[in-house]
Amino acid sequence: MTTLLTDGRDAAGRLRRGELVAFPTETVYGLGADARNAQAVGRLFAAKGRPTDNPLIVHLADAADASAFAVVSTTARRLMDAFWPGPLTLVVPLRADAGLAEAVTAGLGTVGLRVPNLPEAHSFLAACGVPVAAPSANRSGRPSPTDAHAVLLDLDGRIDAVLDGPPATAGLESTVVDVTQGIPVVLRDGAVTLADLRRVVPETVRAARGSELARRSPGTRHRHYAPRTRIVAVEPNAPVPHVHSPAGWLGLVPPDDPSPFAQIWTFATVPDYAHALFRTFREADALGLEALVCRLPPDQPETLAHALRDRILRAAE
Ligand code: AMP
Ligand code: MG
Repeated sequence: MTTLLTDGRDAAGRLRRGELVAFPTETVYGLGADARNAQAVGRLFAAKGRPTDNPLIVHLADAADASAFAVVSTTARRLMDAFWPGPLTLVVPLRADAGLAEAVTAGLGTVGLRVPNLPEAHSFLAACGVPVAAPSANRSGRPSPTDAHAVLLDLDGRIDAVLDGPPATAGLESTVVDVTQGIPVVLRDGAVTLADLRRVVPETVRAARGSELARRSPGTRHRHYAPRTRIVAVEPNAPVPHVHSPAGWLGLVPPDDPSPFAQIWTFATVPDYAHALFRTFREADALGLEALVCRLPPDQPETLAHALRDRILRAAE
């Protein structure tokens, strides 16, 4: 049985005792464990069915806590000052005396750190008073949960508690940026865009898909974000392939020919589309759709459209 909680201090007390507690953030719901507790962290990987070579992001209440766990360079500090609290994860060199369970960092010698900006996440993490290892609160490979109900759909009975809170506002996971070398390298696109990052550190680059750099973010090697409904990605000007019914359509514009589609979702803006993506994936499952045609937004590499395309393309793999 998984307990639904409304009090952040209750939830924090359980986490401190070694329990697995899901909690809201502005990106998606996270599944938290005390990052110093090897047993709790081991249970977390098992509950998600997560490959053990995929390290966990460590969540902190305040940016000032980072230096207890990592060596913080001038560049890392500039990005923290600009984007924390917020949807940016920074991969930084792990301190030898950080005291984190080895599985958290998958033995990489680096650690991904993030300070969420949702007030409920901040008060939960502050009450925890320990570093909280937290991947997205879904079974590995499935769409990330954007509300407490979605957490329970995947993990009821597998985790101890869920702290109920507001639905996620971003709907996509954090941007992951490696700052262990001289220049920042985007390992995973997310709510903070390349244009945002370049306003602070202009030389920031993105790791090419499948490159040596991208392999530094083990999570990007695994298939991800997929509902049971088959996801079919279609480029903006490409013809729509034939799909078995019942099928759904998702895009910035409606299909030219709506007749094959039992359900049509359209969004006015890229942020609206990104915000609704994972929720819509789960709705497609609940409706028993065979296929969901996702019309990709045009690729604008420095914008949120790139992160949205990444999630759709990986769900369609
Ligand atoms: P998730 O928490 O499921 O959204 O996934 C976290 C992402 O951050 C995955 O793609 C991980 O591979 C990546 N990540 C976490 N820690 C590190 C690290 N130390 N080095 C590189 N990538 C990391
Ligand atoms: Mg995830």
